[in-house]
Order: sequence, then C-alpha cells, then structure tokens
Amino acid sequence: MSDCLFCRMVTGEIPADVVHETGRTFAFRDINPQAPTHVLVIPKDHHATAGLLVGADPQLLGEVVAAAHAVAMQEGLVTADGPEPGYRLVANTGPAAGQTVHHVHLHVLGGRDLGWPPG
Ligand code: 5GP
Ligand code: ZN
Repeated sequence: MSDCLFCRMVTGEIPADVVHETGRTFAFRDINPQAPTHVLVIPKDHHATAGLLVGADPQLLGEVVAAAHAVAMQEGLVTADGPEPGYRLVANTGPAAGQTVHHVHLHVLGGRDLGWPPG
C-alpha cells in the first residue's frame, strides 16, 4: 500500500533503523521509544490488525512472533536458558488501544521494569 508508512519503510522509501529482517518480516526501532528497547516487528505484507492477519495468513503471524522473540534475544532481553530479564509484546488494535499506524505491528518492549498492569 503506497500510502502506508510501514509499507514505505519496508521498501526503503522512508528510512528505518532496521534491527532484524527475514523474507517476510521486518523489525526497526520505534521513533518515540517507551523503554530502553522499543522495536516494532511487522509482516512485510500489509494487514491492518493482528486479527485480520491471523485470518488471512496464520503462518505469517507465527513468523512475526518468532521474529519478535529473535529481536528480544538479540537485545539481551531473554537468553537461550530462560526468559530473563524479560520483555513485553504489545499489539494495539483500534482507537481504544491507541493504534495509530494501521499496518499490524508488535511492539517489543524491554530493558526496564515494565510494571503490570499497564497505565
Ligand atoms: P501504535 O500506536 O499504532 O500501536 O504504534 C505506532 C508506533 O509507530 C508508535 O510507537 C510510534 O512512535 C511509531 N512510529 C510512528 N511513526 C514512525 C516513524 O516514522 N518511524 C518509526 N521508527 N516509528 C514510528
Ligand atoms: Zn502497510
């Protein structure tokens, strides 16, 4: 989609601080980080929400989650031995959750005590 910010980042038309990439996924640092690690992981194909993605291509949703975990490993948020110190995945969906970019993305957040519940 030519008018989608994240599609334009995948094509390189808009620059991104890329931290991980596979054939079908793309991960880059958030421009307004909410934690020491704040990376967005997306499918290269355009799908608006996680629900629409899992309906259209469940395998691709799995690839996006696997890429998010790989980013967490790369950022030192988990190890091969266990889930320490840990990280959070967030998929905001719709206006009540504050979704502002309508290309599905997982926020990978970590590097501080994230607390629960979120504000
Ligand atoms: P949402 O609120 O839709 O869940 O998250 C969208 C995220 O995209 C926000 O955290 C916002 O900071 C990030 N974002 C918006 N525009 C850009 C941009 O041009 N570059 C990058 N790297 N992140 C962006
Ligand atoms: Zn898109």
